[in-house]
Amino acid sequence: MPRPIIATIHLDAMKQNLALAKACAPQAKVWGVVKANAYGHGLERALRGFAAADGLALVEVDYALHLRALGWNKPILLLEGFFDPSDIDTMAAHDLNGAVHCLEQIAMLEAARPARPIDLHLKMNTGMNRLGFTPQAFGAAYARLRAIPAVGTITLMTHFANADAANHPGLPIQEQIRRFRFGAQGLDGPRSLSNSAGVLRQAELGGDLESDWVRPGVMLYGGTPGGNTAAAFGLQPSMTLSSAIIGIQDIGAGDAVGYGSRFLAAGPTRVGVVACGYADGYPRHAPDGAPVLVDGVRTTLVGRVSMDMLAVDLTALPQARVGSAVTLWGRGLPVDEVAQAAGTIGYELMCALAARVRVRED
Ligand SMILES: *Cc1c(COP(=O)(O)O)cnc(C)c1O
Repeated sequence: MPRPIIATIHLDAMKQNLALAKACAPQAKVWGVVKANAYGHGLERALRGFAAADGLALVEVDYALHLRALGWNKPILLLEGFFDPSDIDTMAAHDLNGAVHCLEQIAMLEAARPARPIDLHLKMNTGMNRLGFTPQAFGAAYARLRAIPAVGTITLMTHFANADAANHPGLPIQEQIRRFRFGAQGLDGPRSLSNSAGVLRQAELGGDLESDWVRPGVMLYGGTPGGNTAAAFGLQPSMTLSSAIIGIQDIGAGDAVGYGSRFLAAGPTRVGVVACGYADGYPRHAPDGAPVLVDGVRTTLVGRVSMDMLAVDLTALPQARVGSAVTLWGRGLPVDEVAQAAGTIGYELMCALAARVRVRED
């Protein structure tokens, strides 16, 4: 029998979350973002869960080809574009859209002779300072791209740094929108703006955020980009990581649990050992007190997470036994809450689901 740890992917939740994204931005077409193996959910499952998306977006060229091989014949977008001239022929051969964010990529396109024109997303750096042309340099980049016969549609794209914050003191979303409008002024082509945070704030920001395409990722998996809980938006968790208690220790005051003896019992304590560790994708830096469900009841992590196991406090759960069901995150325990306790974000937990964890669907 395999270890009891298993990830359940809820395809219905993925479908419902996509429908919610569409309802938030009814004017726009939706790229379902499926980078990092669909945030840990598996590309093939994403293809079914997001069958109603207008396109799928990711960063890995080989995974894009895998989507084609699986039969996805709607648009595919490479969010970081291409890395090498040979990728341009691949994009033409498999009809892949790609971002163009630097002069080096434009030079590669000028030298390329692909079999057919390639649709591109020209990326503007509106303050994220990661990828893209400044608003001032954007028009010239656009003109240079437009002059290349091998270039088809040019979509104008930017990415928000703080779309989840109502009024970020450093770089509010409104300032990025203002810069985008300035840089894109007079240029022809569809617009592509919002990530999940932007999509979820569409109603509040209204016409200022309107674009032809949106690019939600984490919300499609039932996670949220900001402080708000997913349930407040009506999002459903699409991944539940569960396991079981495989051992129980009754310890007394002053006894410790796990490596480094980080947790010291204050009094008689019943400790449950769970078959889940950092080699399964559970964050090793999770502190004592991080939430865990046992038989659907909330309790807490005690002691350092080890490679294959972690421990939970069963003192208040006398009915718990070896074999009791444990939920690490997902239905009943939002991934964002576990992530917050561990000082990270739900994205990282879902993406880090280890290859050794069995996956099933419901
Ligand atoms: C990852 C990514 C997204 C999706 O972001 P979420 O916060 O997961 O919604 C959108 N656009 C680009 C360019 C990305 O890299």
